[in-house]
Order: sequence, then structure tokens, then C-alpha cells
Amino acid sequence: MKPTALVAGNWKMNGLASSQAELEALGNYLRDGDTADCGVLICPPFTLVASFAANAPEGVAIGAQDCHTNKSGAHTGDISAEMLRDAGAAFIIVGHSERRADHGEDSALVCAKAEAVLAEGLTAIVCVGETEAERDAGKTLDIVLGQVAASVPAESTPENTVVAYEPVWAIGTGRTPTVEDVAEVHTAIRGALVERFGEAGNGFRILYGGSVKPSNASELMAADNVNGALVGGASLKAADFNGIIDAYR
Ligand code: PEP
Repeated sequence: MKPTALVAGNWKMNGLASSQAELEALGNYLRDGDTADCGVLICPPFTLVASFAANAPEGVAIGAQDCHTNKSGAHTGDISAEMLRDAGAAFIIVGHSERRADHGEDSALVCAKAEAVLAEGLTAIVCVGETEAERDAGKTLDIVLGQVAASVPAESTPENTVVAYEPVWAIGTGRTPTVEDVAEVHTAIRGALVERFGEAGNGFRILYGGSVKPSNASELMAADNVNGALVGGASLKAADFNGIIDAYR
């Protein structure tokens, strides 16, 4: 059965308390527009998780962008999945390419973080994706499938894990792969999940991320094995994010 789609916003290091207005505006769009046949998620910076979760409009889930592998302890500046669950997060993104690049996170660490998310009963969004040099060298599927194999925990199920394919060169650049290229990678990820998890592999949501905007969302979301979007820049404005959700109305 085709999984229910998810449109997730990753606010990265953007957003102040005043951003609550954008969350409310998104709630109004969802309430006033035709019903969207997808889940909707906003992952603000840590400082906003608790207030957003407390004030989330109906139909909007709140998540976080990273977590530590441990529950608690001497890890200055870090935050645990347990703390994020306590603050009201339902999802946690792990292995975003900005964390892999800026913080040297490898797939083994990403997998350990995803396991920490699952242990709290939350859903992990596990990010994978190739760099431009890797794509140019014809290594896209090797890199992406290698990351999927090493980053997705053995305990993953369609309910507790989402995979996000985000070509690094498409993030924040305004460039996207062709729909055919997206479909090829997503179908390969689907195959790897079915090989590993059996029939359950068909139930995992595989999101596409990288310069998704209202003008390209419909064609990208219609590609084979694309079950939603992980959206950076265009998730910051409720009107733009709602325009992407339109792909599911
Ligand atoms: C992201 O960073 O997850 C992302 C997809 O960013 P953008 O939509 O801005 O390319």
C-alpha cells in the first residue's frame, strides 16, 4: 500500500519567538484550504520546539533537527531525543547533509542517533544524498544506497522511520535533479528497503528534498516512490509551504 505522504519543513537555524505567527498562518491555510492528503511537519530550531508544540495548529506536527545518541550526561551544548520528546517533538531529523559536512557526522553516528530517536518512541527522518562531485563521477546510487544501509537502524519500521533523499548540490541552490533522476534514486532506495525489511519496505515514506518550491512541487511529488518533501528555505514562509502542500490537494 502506498504510504501517506509527509511534507516536512526544516527551518534550520532560522526563527525567533515572533515566528509563531508563521505557524499560525500555516494552521489557517490548512484549516481554510481543501483538505491536504498528507501529513504536515515543522522542525524549528531547538529553542522553539516546546512553544511550537504547545501551540501547534491542528494538523501540524512539530519535530527537531538533530539529537545526541545518549539520553543525558556530560555533553555540553547537546540535546537528547528524550528531552525533545519531553518538549513535544514527534519527529527528529538525523544525518542532514549540513550536519554530515559541518560536524563530521558519518552514517554510523547517524544510525546511532536514529536508534536514540526510535528508543523514545519518536519518528526519525534519516537524510541521505550525494555531492555534486559524486554525481558527476556516476556514484550517486552507490553513495545513497550505502548511506541508507549504514544509517537506517535494524529496528526501523514504516511507522518510526522516514528516509529523505536530498542531493547535497540541490540544497538551497535552486537547482533540482530531473524528475527521472529523482524517480531513479527513490526507486533504488525503495528496492533496498524491500530487500532489507521485506514487504514492510514498501511502507516507508521516502521524501525528496532540495530546492522544492510551490512551482516544482507537483511534478517532483508525482515521481515514482516520492512520498513527500523535506523543505528548507520554502518552509519559512507559511504561504510558500502551503503552496507545496498544494501538491497533495
Ligand atoms: C534542506 O536543507 O533540507 C533543504 C531541502 O533545503 P532547501 O529546500 O532550501 O533546498
